[in-house]
Amino acid sequence: MKIGVLGLQGAVREHVRSIMASGAEAYVIKWPEELKEMDGLIIPGGESTTMRKLIDKYGFMPELKKFAEAGKPMFGTCAGLILLAKRVVGYNEPHIGVMDVTVERNSFGRQKESFETELDINGVTENFAAVFIRAPHIVEAGENVEILAKHEGRIVAAREGQFLGCSFHPELTEDHSITAYFVRMVAEAKEKALV
Ligand code: GLN
Repeated sequence: MKIGVLGLQGAVREHVRSIMASGAEAYVIKWPEELKEMDGLIIPGGESTTMRKLIDKYGFMPELKKFAEAGKPMFGTCAGLILLAKRVVGYNEPHIGVMDVTVERNSFGRQKESFETELDINGVTENFAAVFIRAPHIVEAGENVEILAKHEGRIVAAREGQFLGCSFHPELTEDHSITAYFVRMVAEAKEKALV
């Protein structure tokens, strides 16, 4: 099983480590053609507007949309969640725009630019040490979206079929349970594709 990490900007290496620790092969994706080989893709945290500029510069957008259309799992963390969302508060157009959620950027206040808190992630893990860095949150989720975690009443992790998204950085600690959950999503999608 091959899982790519979009390697344009942001916390790429940490995701690679976490994927390998979860028992899958990890690849840093630098060119759009490389996506074709992947069974799943992680879009890391970083800065969504910068990442978007690089996505356009290197011609990634059509391939990312094809990846989603093929039913392959995609996991967006922090800025990656913003890139997956169908709606971003304050913007007329989404980025990749595939996951049925509305997100708001930088929504935990300036005085709390970054913080760590323990979260229970429904059906995934408990007491997960979640690191938030200028994090977005999910303001609104479509009816097929399963809410996996909330912090202070705000949705911070969710899944819609092949799409997984979280506000925080799951790759920054030694607890790889969320990445392992995504690896299982990829395994299941791959199995289905073979039937
Ligand atoms: N604030 C960033 C953005 O809007 C996301 C921060 C992160 O990925 N840690 O893109």
